[in-house]
Amino acid sequence: STGVAAALEEPIKPPVTVNCTQLLINGQFVDAASGKTFPTLDPRTGEVIAHVAEADAEDINRAVSAARKAFDEGPWPKMTAYERSRIMLRFADLVEKHNDDIAALETWDNGKPYEQAAQIEIPMLARLFRYYAGWADKIHGLTVPADGPFHVQTLHEPIGVAGQIIPWNFPLLMFAWKVGPALACGNTVVLKTAEQTPLSALYVSKLFHEAGLPEGVLNVVSGFGPTAGAPLASHMDVDKLAFTGSTETGKIVLGLAAKSNLKPVTLELGGKSPFIVCDDADVDQAVELAHFALFFNQGQCCCAGSRTYVHERVYDEFVEKAKDRALKRVVGDPFKTGIEQGPQVDSEQFEKILEYIRNGVDSGATLETGGGRLGSKGYYIQPTVFSNVKDDMLIAQDEIFGPVQSILKFKDLNEVIQRANATPYGLAAGVFTKNLDTANTLTRALRVGTVWVNCFDTFDAAIPFGGYKMSGIGREKGIYSLSNYLQVKAVVTPLKNA
Ligand code: ADP
Repeated sequence: STGVAAALEEPIKPPVTVNCTQLLINGQFVDAASGKTFPTLDPRTGEVIAHVAEADAEDINRAVSAARKAFDEGPWPKMTAYERSRIMLRFADLVEKHNDDIAALETWDNGKPYEQAAQIEIPMLARLFRYYAGWADKIHGLTVPADGPFHVQTLHEPIGVAGQIIPWNFPLLMFAWKVGPALACGNTVVLKTAEQTPLSALYVSKLFHEAGLPEGVLNVVSGFGPTAGAPLASHMDVDKLAFTGSTETGKIVLGLAAKSNLKPVTLELGGKSPFIVCDDADVDQAVELAHFALFFNQGQCCCAGSRTYVHERVYDEFVEKAKDRALKRVVGDPFKTGIEQGPQVDSEQFEKILEYIRNGVDSGATLETGGGRLGSKGYYIQPTVFSNVKDDMLIAQDEIFGPVQSILKFKDLNEVIQRANATPYGLAAGVFTKNLDTANTLTRALRVGTVWVNCFDTFDAAIPFGGYKMSGIGREKGIYSLSNYLQVKAVVTPLKNA
């Protein structure tokens, strides 16, 4: 790994230039009203990539009134659903055409491996928009029987202006999960990106306008939580709020929505997902999958399998092999081929993860491998494995959001069910077993929004995603996401001659 560290000293020049750094309001790129900007940094070096317009309350007002106008007067909800669908499909085509540039921006701003962005995430962005384009002209209400001479129907109408606040770990997938269903249902949008990763959403939103999106339908603002996110969450003219981020911030925005105009809120929040390796597991396969479940995306996944529960019969072998696998993890400049792990997104996350690692050591967990930074610049962290972790340790309770695997031992199924559920979170779980009865018992008992059996992080446009308990409210993706962006109007007409 000294070779790896050396390679980190010479960052590869990103194969793309930054063109869009202003706010996108009413179809135009404009400066912030205050004229302020903030730097967005390269996580490989901590150096400035670009200065980006910084929105505050006044810009949020401008963006919301553009979205309001596009909804109330503008063409969007009045277009045929087929026309909306066609624009979304053309956007997906443009995403495909510019795949590599978009992937390079995503990697530069976020630090994720370029191959992952180019081969999986950006194609998924196009796939998600095609999925939602497919729904646009298939949304309709019902004819309802009533006790009496009435003709009753329901209209499924767009809810209005959607405010959307997204995080930095999957900037464009979060964009798609939010914007896709909102536009398919005929809403207009003001989206606030995360301050760590503002670049890619601006780039693709420009493409969306090239695809024929009318002005004001999608407004994208860069800025910080308290100064740009909060005014959006509490805006009186925003009809619906969708948020992905930490549970702590989720509580804040839910409160702001309640105190302002009671706009409905969907929340996709934190997690501390168990990955349960049963006694019948093929240990090599279990190690590989558990490794992926935790380390994918530098460990920066809300659904990361961050509590690896291993049955005592296979525990020792598992720990040894999990350590070996972490040692083999290829960390380096995310623009290089064959890289599995790039830097963490920023210095704040980097410091926070190192603090949790210190806490794990102090609380008596066994540090099997890793535990420190890698290289001398940027935010690279050694793949880290703790064994002998106990449920009451902080590293088994808090969301670390980094490349730190915690392995815990269990004896029987009832015990592991109880322990897996003993958390305020309920986002996801992994189950690894060949025994169908064991799998069924676990999938029914775990109080989580997704159970992956013998797989993990299998995402698909049609599979709903969301949390039980303090991991969130509502579901995104799939058919379930549409109801977040629709109002139901009952229309009742007497039948005169019945
Ligand atoms: P993280 O800790 O992973 O950065 P956050 O929940 O703080 O997660 O951030 C997720 C998103 O929420 C970002 O776009 C951020 O700017 C925004 N945000 C943070 N604080 C607030 C706030 N007080 N009001 C509204 N949005 C916020």
